[in-house]
Amino acid sequence: MSDTQVGKIVKVAGPVVVAEGMSGARMYDVVRVGEENLIGEIVELRGDRASVQVYEDTTGVGPGEKVVNTGAPLSVELGPGLISSIYDGIQRPLDQLREKQGDVILRGSAIPGLRRDVKWHFVPTVSNGTKVQGGDIVGQVQETTLVLHKILVPPGVSGVLDGLREGDFTVDQSIGVVTADGGFRTELKLMHKWPVRTARPSLRRLAPGEILTTGQRVIDAFFPIAKGGTACVPGPFGSGKTVVQHQLAKWVNADVVVYVGCGERGNEMTDVLKEFPELKDPHSGEPLMKRVVLLANTSDMPVAAREASVYTGITLAEYFRDMGYSVAMMADSTSRWAEAMREISTRLEEMPAEEGYPAYLGARIASFYERAGRVECAGGPQREGALSIIGAVSPPGGDLSDSVVQATLHVVKVFWSLQGRLAQQRHFPAIDWLTSYSFYKQYLSGCFEDRQRGVEMAEMSREAMSLLEQESQLIEIVRLVGAESISAKDRLVLQTARSIREDFLHQNAFHKVDTHTSMDKQFEILKAILYFHRIALSAVERGADTRDLSALKVRESIARAKFLEENQIGQIVDLRRQIDEQIRAVIGAAAA
Ligand code: ADP
Repeated sequence: MSDTQVGKIVKVAGPVVVAEGMSGARMYDVVRVGEENLIGEIVELRGDRASVQVYEDTTGVGPGEKVVNTGAPLSVELGPGLISSIYDGIQRPLDQLREKQGDVILRGSAIPGLRRDVKWHFVPTVSNGTKVQGGDIVGQVQETTLVLHKILVPPGVSGVLDGLREGDFTVDQSIGVVTADGGFRTELKLMHKWPVRTARPSLRRLAPGEILTTGQRVIDAFFPIAKGGTACVPGPFGSGKTVVQHQLAKWVNADVVVYVGCGERGNEMTDVLKEFPELKDPHSGEPLMKRVVLLANTSDMPVAAREASVYTGITLAEYFRDMGYSVAMMADSTSRWAEAMREISTRLEEMPAEEGYPAYLGARIASFYERAGRVECAGGPQREGALSIIGAVSPPGGDLSDSVVQATLHVVKVFWSLQGRLAQQRHFPAIDWLTSYSFYKQYLSGCFEDRQRGVEMAEMSREAMSLLEQESQLIEIVRLVGAESISAKDRLVLQTARSIREDFLHQNAFHKVDTHTSMDKQFEILKAILYFHRIALSAVERGADTRDLSALKVRESIARAKFLEENQIGQIVDLRRQIDEQIRAVIGAAAA
């Protein structure tokens, strides 16, 4: 097939264009459509007829216009300059598009993903004459203060290295040459391309081993996600999906964050675009954007670009994983992605399955989440990388039987169930503790350097969860037969469960201190709450009144613990002493 293969449009149906005379084309080849050279991708082939999903508005495009096959699949550019970028769904830099053309993206624009006019200081880490293969790290560029960009031999390339040198290079200048056994020479550059629909290779998959901390107490302590794990956040409108995703982007302990804003309303995305550049990384104090790549596809952007944005995002994320980093990808919302799939499928006149989604919906969702994982990276030196995916799902009316939710729950290992009811009560994050789950809880015990502390954290998590379950049963009993019917011990369970909910689970994303809690602080708050329960229980057994216990001053201090700064953890530790003292006084009074 040649680069100049040209077909002719016979039909235009919204974002889908059908062209004739495309024999020799392959599925997923990128084409330029019409006189304006709109960017599109072949998604169906029948004989010499190709159906093309177009990433831009097709208004005005009509039959008879040309379709030119580029012969290459939809690819992204991988190299220095990705970090801090804000792209659309096919890796066009939004800021540069805007500079050039104003707020409305002109059609057919082909601004490359990586700037060609910036020089990066490259430092080799292997010597010439070395035999290298795909995935090997040959050197590095300090891309931002937070990200050391490793330069990889592109997958599939191998041979002897020559001409590699330190210096300042643009991404498309040669930095050295790899000569294969047969004499075939490949120029190495700071960048290479990769097709977005193909997972990047790794040596082997590893089981997850570590928690990806998020600073969000209900997540870290109750429903943690592992590095390399997958999570989904479904919930009705207004239940806090976006806030959860933003909180994670800000606070996860990942080296690189890829945030895909997919099909949400333009103003929500504007919030992200405005807010993110102002945020500071909590660990380094540097601007957060120095470890973030943003992809923005608002609902007013073309539907096909939205379909592609998830693949573009995951490919960028895999690339950083391949450097040996822990990468977290957030997609908000995968429902909008699935709707884009549905619209394209309808235009292709495919047989619809449930709710009009294509029959391959489940397979597509599964293959997307399967690109997450902890891996041993291809090439040397030996290193591990992890890619975690957190997808928001926004089913109509919050209905969990929705096809996208169900297909997602089949594959992800963590489920954070956001409830409209909790959001209405202003209990945020509105993650329902009774229906959410995590299959990574066993890794909680490894989340502290001190193993014993980890084991205790895991035990406390179980104990707190059990109290919350008892609470839900007790509430039911109280509702049926009245508060008088339950024992003092049960009343204490209700008190403690309430404390777990209000003093621990409830977390204000917009409060300067409360927005993030370290694992150490989470440990101490939970310990104080459960310690109170244990000592109060022995007091109740000795005849103390639960009302006297709930009126103790230390209760207030427990409630305020989450607002103490990280360097005031000592005050939270001290709560146990105050609990002892004050409850002893109650027991003394009860005995007198
Ligand atoms: P969704 O994306 O599910 O439609 P949002 O994430 O936009 O919902 O959340 C709706 C509102 O709920 C937010 O504007 C905010 O006022 C409130 N909210 C959600 N999560 C929190 C939180 N953790 N802390 C405080 N307020 C929150």
